[in-house]
Amino acid sequence: MENIKTIGVLTSGGDAPGMNPCIRAVVRTALDKKLNVLGIYGGYEGLLNGSFRPLGARDVGGILQRGGTILQTARSNNFQTIPGRMKALREMNSAGVDALVVIGGDGSLRGALSLMQEGFPVVGIPASIDNDIYGTDMCIGVDTALNTIVDAIDKLRDTATSHNRAFLIETMGRKNGYLAQHAGIVSGAEMVLIPEIPVEIESVIKAVENAYIRGKTHCIIVVAEGFEPNTTVIAERIAAMKIGFDTRVTILGHIQRGGKPTAFDRMLATRYGAHATRLLVEGKTGIMTALQGREINPISLEEATSNKKALSEEYFNLATMLAR
Ligand code: ADP
Repeated sequence: MENIKTIGVLTSGGDAPGMNPCIRAVVRTALDKKLNVLGIYGGYEGLLNGSFRPLGARDVGGILQRGGTILQTARSNNFQTIPGRMKALREMNSAGVDALVVIGGDGSLRGALSLMQEGFPVVGIPASIDNDIYGTDMCIGVDTALNTIVDAIDKLRDTATSHNRAFLIETMGRKNGYLAQHAGIVSGAEMVLIPEIPVEIESVIKAVENAYIRGKTHCIIVVAEGFEPNTTVIAERIAAMKIGFDTRVTILGHIQRGGKPTAFDRMLATRYGAHATRLLVEGKTGIMTALQGREINPISLEEATSNKKALSEEYFNLATMLAR
């Protein structure tokens, strides 16, 4: 590959706290390598509309500690079509973009792979609070979202205990129970319900009843968004049994996406951003930065997007064993 002079950077799909420190690291690493950087605004939709703006060192000042993404994010149906992708390639060509860094979740990384398959140099960075991307221990945003959830559960437990209440707390995670499971373990929940592991509603009711009989002053059940039946239905069924606890539901919702990134997420985002930029400079393409243990070991976008990340059995066993 010829030497690259200008790289583009975009954030796409669901936002995740830590995207900003990642953008900052991409820009400043690129400047260190004497490259120009164009920020692409609004994800792939911005890519095919030519919403590009140069980013200098000062443009990414003061964003390290901010949630969200200064580049905005979006979902783009146009980009999923061949004419849409051709338009995106033409826009990058006319703006002089030689290579691209894509920061986003599973769908965004598939989009990155599709550009690579058209012969365009691209490196992906996994950012998704769900931690559902194969080949990496952690995605940007997971740690911050987890801390937000744990903080909320701690507060809800205070009030649950004072009133002898059972609380169903719903976390994000339509297909994946990572956040619910991890939050459940570190906040001492009585039960965790996740889409990967079906549980009969009768067993949930039994668990609440048992908690009451054992003399617990509260019962915290963390439910991932994608668990069937949904949180409201479970709550109604528990309430109908008149077990002893009053039942309440809290759906945490979008609060889980916001807030300043934790130190862990800032560091991860910074390392990923710097690493991705270096990979492009070295002429590498079609890969994703991935954390394995403490090391960053990139894997191919093909591998990352064609496999499903499995939930660890170790955590499942911990959650079940400790909820006594
Ligand atoms: P996330 O990146 O958070 O998983 P989405 O799944 O919505 O979010 O994906 C973000 C965007 O990535 C989509 O709106 C679309 O433009 C693009 N994308 C998703 N899947 C593909 C695909 N298979 N090929 C090309 N682009 C895709």
